[in-house]
Amino acid sequence: MIRVTVWNENVHDQEAAIRAIYPSGLHGAIADALREDAEKRFSVRTATLDQPAQGLPDEILSDTDVLFWWGHVRHNDVSDELIERIARRVRDGMGLIVLHSGHYSKLFRRLMGTECRSKWWENGDHERIFTVMPGHPIAMGLPEFFELPIEETYCEHFNIPTPDELVFISWFSGGAVLRSGCCYHYGAGKIFYFQPGHEAYPTYQDKNIRHVLRNAAAWAAPMGSAPVYGQFTPMETK
Ligand code: ZN
Repeated sequence: MIRVTVWNENVHDQEAAIRAIYPSGLHGAIADALREDAEKRFSVRTATLDQPAQGLPDEILSDTDVLFWWGHVRHNDVSDELIERIARRVRDGMGLIVLHSGHYSKLFRRLMGTECRSKWWENGDHERIFTVMPGHPIAMGLPEFFELPIEETYCEHFNIPTPDELVFISWFSGGAVLRSGCCYHYGAGKIFYFQPGHEAYPTYQDKNIRHVLRNAAAWAAPMGSAPVYGQFTPMETK
């Protein structure tokens, strides 16, 4: 089983309008998408900022293969100590899925080394998500493109490092485009940024989005043995 922890700052989720869409919070909807996996590949738990150790004490983080991250208005309240612990876990092989406004989280900016800003507006646009790397594991089983009837618009330029693999590009009816599904390798770990997921819209109830979340968790899970570094004995004798 792939051990997944879905972390959410859990702030918007307290508003009545958001609870009407996500009764168990954004983290609850994301966790449900993983739990409904036909192959039952994931054991899923959720964690929130208001919990002890900001939801991620060592015993949980060290027991996590893939971490999902949803944050927006409390980025700066996440402790630097926690950010460094997560970054070390990713470096050592843990997968990380950063969602929507998590692009501007301390965690994502720390790992990318750039500002990770874009243009944005909220104007009732619909979003068309194109699969631009159809052979990629995160694109498996998805159509050539799919649409969300309403989503917050993010627009280039998005000042991220050039992705190692670009899986999705989005077009928005307000005229924007964005690199919306970006893969990175960081040490032994894998990182996927996925743009859809504004709290005021039912994005995480969309079947294609839920499919992407499952594909991403499976792709980001660590595999293979840990490399050994440092001085070593020769592999051939002279
Ligand atoms: Zn948003």
